[in-house]
Amino acid sequence: MVRQVAVVLLGGVSFLVACSQVDSGTEASSEGAVTVVSTISPITNLIQNVGGDRVEVTGIVPEGTNSHTFEPAPADARVMSEADIVFINGLHLEEPTRELAEANVAEGVDIVQLGEETISPEEYIYDFSFPEEDGDPNPHLWTNPPYAKAYAKIIRDRLSEVDPDNADYYSANYDKIASRLDKLDAIAREVTATVPEDDRKLLTYHDSFPYFAREYGWDVIGAIQPSDFADPTAQEVAGLIDQVGNEDLPAIFGSEVFPSPVLEQIARETGAEYIDDLRDDDLPGSLDDPDHSYIGLMVFDFKTFMGALGGDPSAFDTIDVSNTAGDASVTYRE
Ligand SMILES: [Zn+2]
Repeated sequence: MVRQVAVVLLGGVSFLVACSQVDSGTEASSEGAVTVVSTISPITNLIQNVGGDRVEVTGIVPEGTNSHTFEPAPADARVMSEADIVFINGLHLEEPTRELAEANVAEGVDIVQLGEETISPEEYIYDFSFPEEDGDPNPHLWTNPPYAKAYAKIIRDRLSEVDPDNADYYSANYDKIASRLDKLDAIAREVTATVPEDDRKLLTYHDSFPYFAREYGWDVIGAIQPSDFADPTAQEVAGLIDQVGNEDLPAIFGSEVFPSPVLEQIARETGAEYIDDLRDDDLPGSLDDPDHSYIGLMVFDFKTFMGALGGDPSAFDTIDVSNTAGDASVTYRE
C-alpha cells in the first residue's frame, strides 16, 4: 500500500468574499417555488434535475474551490435563513457550512445529509487521505453512480415532503434522471471491462474515487493528499515512486483544482503518463454548456482515466450528459 504523502493547498483557508451569482437564465422566483440550499455542484445539479422548475436552488460552494476546506461567507447565514430545505453531502465534508445552516435555518427546516442517508457506517471507507483515527470517512460518494442515484431518490422524497402538491412532478423527474444514471452505471461497467485487468488501478492526487473503485472492481493504490496538510517528505515521495514503478502504471492522475508538483515528479521518474485534469466536484464547462452536469462530470472523469489506462471509452459518447430537467432556477456561486 502506498503511504499517504502530504501536500494540500497553500495558505490554509481562503475566504470567499465576493460571491457573484449566475442564474441559469430562466426567470427566477416562480411563485411558490421551493427554496433549496445545497453545497457542492454535483448535488446542486442533482437537485436541479429532480426539482425542475418547482425549486430555486443555490449551491453555496463555488466551483473550482476546495470543498473540503470551504468556509461559507457570513452572508450565507441569510441564504440559510430563507431555505425551505438544505441538502449537503455530509460525512463531515462541509462542517462549517453545516454549522452555519444549523444556526440559521428556520424552525422545522431540515438539513439533509445525503451521505449519511445513503450508506451505513459499516460501509464508510477510511483510507490514505481519510484515516479512521481522524474519524472523518472519505466523503466522495457521488463518484459512484448508484450512490448518486440514491442521492436523487432522497432528494425526490424530501422535496415531496416539503411540497407534497408536486410529489408526482418530482417523481417523474426522478425517473428520468434515474434512468440516465442507470445508463451511466452500465457504461462504466462496460468500459471498465475494456481496461486491461492489471491496469484497473488509480493513483490520484485527490482521493475522490474509492467508492467508485469498490463498486466497479478497481484498485485505488494510493492518493497523495493527506488529511493533515503537511508536506510530503522526500522518503514518502521516494516510496510512491517505487510503488508506481512496481505497479507499472501507464498513467497517474492529478486534479485540476489541486495542481501537484509531486505527481509530476513521480510521473517523470517512473515514466507514467501524468494526466492533470480529473475533476472532483467541479462540473465541466460553464452553466449553459450541456456537459455542465453531474453526468457530464462523471463522463469526463471516467473517459479520462479509463482511456489513459488502455480502455476504450467510446461507449461514454452514447450517453446524453445534458440535464433531464433543464428549466430549473439554479445559482452556482462563482
Ligand atoms: Zn474532494
